[in-house]
Amino acid sequence: MIALAEPNLSGNESEYIRQCMDTNFVSSVGPFVPRFEEAFAQFVGTPHAVAVSNGTAAIHMALILAGVGPGDEVIVSDFTFAASGNPIFYQGGTPILVDSEFDTWNLEPGLVVEELDRRARLGLRMPKVVLAVHILGYPARIEAIADACDRHGVWLIEDAAEALGARYTDGPYKGRQVGTIGRIGCFSFNGNKIMTTGGGGMLVSSDAALAQRAKYLITQAKLPGYAYFHNEVGYNYRLTNLAAALGVAQLERLDAFLDKKADIARTYDEAFQGLEGLRCPPRPTGLTPTFWLYSVMFSRPWEQPLEQLLKRGVQTRPLWTALHLMPPYQGVPLLGSGKVSESLCSFGLSLPCSTSLSKKDQAMVIEAVREILK
Ligand SMILES: *Cc1c(COP(=O)(O)O)cnc(C)c1O
Repeated sequence: MIALAEPNLSGNESEYIRQCMDTNFVSSVGPFVPRFEEAFAQFVGTPHAVAVSNGTAAIHMALILAGVGPGDEVIVSDFTFAASGNPIFYQGGTPILVDSEFDTWNLEPGLVVEELDRRARLGLRMPKVVLAVHILGYPARIEAIADACDRHGVWLIEDAAEALGARYTDGPYKGRQVGTIGRIGCFSFNGNKIMTTGGGGMLVSSDAALAQRAKYLITQAKLPGYAYFHNEVGYNYRLTNLAAALGVAQLERLDAFLDKKADIARTYDEAFQGLEGLRCPPRPTGLTPTFWLYSVMFSRPWEQPLEQLLKRGVQTRPLWTALHLMPPYQGVPLLGSGKVSESLCSFGLSLPCSTSLSKKDQAMVIEAVREILK
């Protein structure tokens, strides 16, 4: 079976884990945690990074820092993984979903700008946050959204869990990586992401006070000093030294992982050019996606292609179900028709694209795809 996306742990991972074991620093305190935070901040180009237990915790903490509470609204992409939306409910907030655009598969900026401007015009209450997701390695078109957030005093938070290393190559954010545009950026190091710490996440910000407050809240809101004194309700959202050790080793190889993903995407694109019944992923201008999960659109629903490819030893996976189609979101407002996100989740399949994928295995995947399209 050719796997969809496997971790690649053949660098310094075991050496650094052994160092944790040898020194007994296996838990939430230890030298790899700050080392990981510093190296990560440098990689994405942000002044401050705070390691957390997973990407969902990073998003939850970001919403807490933005002051989202019961009754507050958060604008969020409709086409995303459930983890983008769940923390809104943890805080008693209400999501407002936004349909995607075909160009980047991310939230349609016009819909967000229009909604914020409309509310301002009518004197209606603003949402607290726009949570822009960078889906499947594609930077969202965030320029107009960031501008509208600025004008209306709304926090922009980025869920960059799937797009570590993706960047803008044109416009005002030229050269900037995803996660560094909003007040806070959130990342995930779950096992299937482009780099992994087993489970883990990172919260980044250019605001030192925000980062410091995040660190305090994820450490049970314990005040400095020997005494166990807590001024407010905190969280246990820290990352372990063991996980951070993996993170440091993975980060050393992230550039190579990104190169490999780009190479895999190029090879698939060339092989699938002109094939009837399948559309390659978009190649939008002005940004460089990572093709974290190389995903194609079939001209028929994904169920049959998935079964047919599985029979040929190729593991694939459907794209995320649009949030508005699932029970927790019944009755939640949706900006746009939801038709784009619906078609993405009806027809899309991700193909094998592990950073360890061999040329031979990729050729087998290509052959299998050609066969099922005959
Ligand atoms: C993976 C993911 C998360 C959550 O990350 P975990 O580390 O699994 O908690 C959040 N948002 C998106 C879009 C993701 O893909």
